[in-house]
Amino acid sequence: MDLYEYQAKDLFAAHGVPVLPGAVASNAEEARAAAERIGGQVVVKAQVKTGGRGKAGGVKLAQNADEAQEKAEAILGLDIKGHITRRVLVTEASDIAEEYYVSFLLDRANRTFLAMASAEGGMEIEQLAVERPEALAKVPVDAIAGVDKAKAVEILTVARFPEAILEQAADVVVKLWETFVAEDATLVEVNPLVRDPQDKVVALDGKVTLDDNASFRHPSHEELVDKQAENPLEAKAKAKDLNYVKLDGEVGIIGNGAGLVMSTLDVVAYAGEKHGGVKPANFLDIGGGASAEVMAAGLDVILNDPAVKSVFVNVFGGITACDAVANGIVEALKILGDEASKPLVVRLDGNNVEEGRAILAEANHPLVTLVDTMDNAADRAAELATENSVGA
Ligand code: GDP
Ligand code: MN
Repeated sequence: MDLYEYQAKDLFAAHGVPVLPGAVASNAEEARAAAERIGGQVVVKAQVKTGGRGKAGGVKLAQNADEAQEKAEAILGLDIKGHITRRVLVTEASDIAEEYYVSFLLDRANRTFLAMASAEGGMEIEQLAVERPEALAKVPVDAIAGVDKAKAVEILTVARFPEAILEQAADVVVKLWETFVAEDATLVEVNPLVRDPQDKVVALDGKVTLDDNASFRHPSHEELVDKQAENPLEAKAKAKDLNYVKLDGEVGIIGNGAGLVMSTLDVVAYAGEKHGGVKPANFLDIGGGASAEVMAAGLDVILNDPAVKSVFVNVFGGITACDAVANGIVEALKILGDEASKPLVVRLDGNNVEEGRAILAEANHPLVTLVDTMDNAADRAAELATENSVGA
């Protein structure tokens, strides 16, 4: 999960990284009130989860509360790279003597963490990396050793930070590393980290990506989720503990086991090429113990996706045998009643397959088609999705 700048800075503050005081506002009057409280010169900043806000007119200085209100009016509603600005951060303005860049990230390719730093911050880091790669220090960080003061000094020395603020900036870097570790982040970035005319070092911007796989040990991160911007189907699936990812096709997919679901996506995409280019509508792994409730919960999420025109249930019976899964499907359709309104293609194989197929044949549900092989089932599901799209 990516955080908004104000959320990133709240985490920074909690870990002792110096930031300037500010408040979030969702309309111009609130922005004005915040500017009055802060007093003096402020910066009004669009809160959108994308970079380059400054260039897009989403970051503006205001001399007083009146001006803060005006700037907020101009920024609220602004479309920045497809992100509509719904809130602004009003924060104390800093005088800037120099701008630097610092980040920590997970370097998957090298199976390590990486520190990046530059004494030439402010500009977009991608541009700096291309135009002046020698100005961007890249220092691997060992996960066990971490970043202590000496390591921070090493990073900033490679990055050619000025001597006068090296110690102070190194303290900030250590705290940023502490934030990275303590919050289970995969990215912590400050651009710019600034030196003001009094030689004080402050983080003026913040970008943090949290590792969702670690969310179970951070109950407080739940508050950081932007419910308004969340995909409602993904939110519903999450609430039911389902392993679901929305995709942009028309064939709903349910399978047991991540590997099976991944290959189901492939065969459906392949079959779809012969049927008007239909594609998988989602990834959904209901796991090994596919009870009727879990099957119903999964079908419920998928059938409520307006993009879905047909559903492919692909199950390989293992510990949970095919007859149990078949009973689960029959029960799930009963639970859903009229909500189940799209054709289902079911392919069962593995443990107790004959019994499972017999149960579905017996139930003879009008929406269910039983198909023997994965390829044929994918083909039928894709075909049904096309038929269902025409005239819909
Ligand atoms: P970004 O464009 O999305 O990365 O947004 P930033 O928060 O990095 O702001 C963009 C630029 O606005 C910075 O690089 C600064 O040059 C400028 N800026 C941001 N805050 C202040 C401030 O408090 N004072 C001054 N003078 N400039 C600021
Ligand atoms: Mn920035």
